[in-house]
Order: sequence, then C-alpha cells, then structure tokens
Amino acid sequence: MYSIRELFRRCLGGACPLCDWPAPAGDLCSRCERPVRCDQSLNRTSGGLAVIAATAYARPGDQLMRALKEGGQLNHAGLYARLLWYAMRATQPPLPSLAALVPIPADLRAAQRRGFNPACEIAVELSRLSRLPVKRLWLARTRSAESQKSLDRAARKKSVCGLYTSDKPLPEVWIGLVDDVTTSGSTLDAAAHALSQAGARGVIGLVGAKTPTRVGT
Ligand SMILES: [Zn+2]
Repeated sequence: MYSIRELFRRCLGGACPLCDWPAPAGDLCSRCERPVRCDQSLNRTSGGLAVIAATAYARPGDQLMRALKEGGQLNHAGLYARLLWYAMRATQPPLPSLAALVPIPADLRAAQRRGFNPACEIAVELSRLSRLPVKRLWLARTRSAESQKSLDRAARKKSVCGLYTSDKPLPEVWIGLVDDVTTSGSTLDAAAHALSQAGARGVIGLVGAKTPTRVGT
C-alpha cells in the first residue's frame, strides 16, 4: 500500500542519478540499485548494536552520499530513506517494533557549513514512510568533536566517549537511531549508550551508508 505522495512520485518518472536512465522520480534505476545496496544490510558495531545499512559507502553509490552531504542535494535523503525502509522490512528475523526515530545530532560547525543535518533529513523522510515520529530532542551533543575521518578505530572510540546525552528520562521503547554514514560504529555506540542510559528499552542503528568492513579489521 502506497501513500498518495508515494504513488505520485512513482508515476512521475525521472532519471537515475547515477546513469540517467529512466527511473521513478528520485530513485535509482533497477540496474544501478543492486550494486549500490549494502550486501549485508544487518551489521553489528563493536559495541554490539544492531545496524541496518541501506547502501555500501563505496563506488558507485558513494557519490550519492557526497551529493547529499557536500552538494546539498536533499532529494537523495528520500532515496536513502526508501532503500533503508526496504532493508528494514526485509531483515530477518523481523526488527523489534520501533516507537520513534532519533537522528544523530550534527556537529554545530558542520551544521552551520551545510545549513542542514543529513541524518535528520534521512530521519524525516523515513518518518514519512514508516509513520514513526522523529524525536530530535531525545539526544543532544555535549561538545564539538574533531573530524573522525583520519582517526583509527581506537581513536574514534575515544573521541566520541561521552559525546552524546539524553537530558530527560525516555519512555521504555525501542528507538531507531538514524545516521547518514557509519564507519566503525563508534558514534552509533556512543549515542545508543546515551539513549539506553536515559531509559530506552533498546536501540537499532539505521544508516544510509556503511563503509565496507575490510577483512582483518
Ligand atoms: Zn542507473
């Protein structure tokens, strides 16, 4: 069953953002979608958090995430949300019943530079599909943190220790924690820890793209 909005989008038609072939508006064509999807959509972080990833952060799909984050192409947030929603429903065993979506809060400087938070944009689009409410105020950042790009796994974990907090007690519900990209999972682990400490029953990570794990790491 599609919403009116979703039916309209499918009927509208458009061009695949990777190859320009015909595709439903805002979507990848069927030829491009397969290699972009994450091979193994359900993963676990080193902290044990279950994470659903829509795509692999690798060629050719990585340019979609860069277009969203650095190029401001916010329509790609809808594409990630649709791929994520598909992966969430296809996961076996089925996910626990989620009650809310919480986006990872953006670093203030990154938010000021971009003018938006990619994780929040994906959460809002996912909320349209799943009808789950977005609860931005359930999670806050305690400080600014240096970019994690150049850090190894141990350094990433250290840099996000205590980075997130939930100020108020939360209801005892399962939460979908939304982020745009995950690499080591240390950010998701730190945020999930804060939500659990505040009373959440459980947390599932929901990410647009996951950096493929290299053998031996
Ligand atoms: Zn294509």
